[in-house]
Amino acid sequence: MKKSRRDFIKQTVLWGSWLLLAGRKTATGARPPESALPAYGILHEKGDLAERVDAAYALFESCTLCPRQCGADRLSGETAFCRATAKLKVYSAQPHFGEEMSLVGRRGSGTVFFSNCNLRCVFCQNWPIAHKGQGKEIDDGTLADMMLELQKIGCHNINLVTPTHVMPNILNAVKLACKKGLRIPLVYNTSGYERVEILRLLDGVIDIYLPDMKYMSPEKAAIYSAGVSDYPEIAKAAILEMHRQVGLHRTDRRGVAQRGLMIRHLVMPNGVAGTGQFVRWVAANLPLSTYVNIMPQYHVAYKAFEYPEIWRRITVKEYLEAMSWAEKSGLSNLDPDSVRMRDLYRRQ
Ligand code: SF4
Repeated sequence: MKKSRRDFIKQTVLWGSWLLLAGRKTATGARPPESALPAYGILHEKGDLAERVDAAYALFESCTLCPRQCGADRLSGETAFCRATAKLKVYSAQPHFGEEMSLVGRRGSGTVFFSNCNLRCVFCQNWPIAHKGQGKEIDDGTLADMMLELQKIGCHNINLVTPTHVMPNILNAVKLACKKGLRIPLVYNTSGYERVEILRLLDGVIDIYLPDMKYMSPEKAAIYSAGVSDYPEIAKAAILEMHRQVGLHRTDRRGVAQRGLMIRHLVMPNGVAGTGQFVRWVAANLPLSTYVNIMPQYHVAYKAFEYPEIWRRITVKEYLEAMSWAEKSGLSNLDPDSVRMRDLYRRQ
């Protein structure tokens, strides 16, 4: 079973990992590319990446980066729901071995955890980072150097965790890092609460989209994720746009992901996540070979103790039911670890 993000946080010495990386020789002489020029490299060569950065940064003036559309002037230091100004804040940057196998490969996924969040679920497993904003302010150039260091130590990708509210900083960092030799795929690891108009700025930049599909019910989304009753419709539209941009999950000959859509769905107790509806929606709206990870590792974290519906882990029966709905829907590309977990549970 994958390590939960909470386990991951426990193992992370705040900033220690980045300080370790920072102690290495700076990354201008980055590791040779593992694959052909990635999407963002092509965009950079055409000169289009700088225009995207300008367009994205302009959004900070009256922030509409996410569906909350708060209108805060983040360039002047104003904050709103996500509590972020235009200054980037990062918690950690290090190889991570708890993600999907095709992202981890042999050398790990180069994971960057951004502080703050535009969704803020009551059961958040990363709450010190997402809710409390733990982390350190850095400039975009430092993020570019972090990316290059992760590439240099052999990570297979740059895995951008909770990127939505800092997307302009990320784009700028990618532009700077690309000039210095960044070549590995970019993974956009998001809650799924994304505006399609904003995602279009990432078309040709992001190689792998890794969205959650958390709920299918507006009521559950509103209760557990700070009022976002529009989450199901917003996330569905976002996922269709992501698929339009990058298509199906594709790996190289080593089985390492290079491009495509990978959807995560965390099974929650008492049917809160709407798993049956979710798998039927995927089957009806995307190719049956879409990569789907039905995740069993929900655990009670942060304020979940205050909500009786979600104050326990899921049962074996609930997980087996979820996997059986996925199979009955015809989904043919389920995450290998989820299939192993299903087989293990079946033997119990
Ligand atoms: S990114 Fe933050 S400030 Fe901008 S619209 Fe979303 S929650 Fe509001």
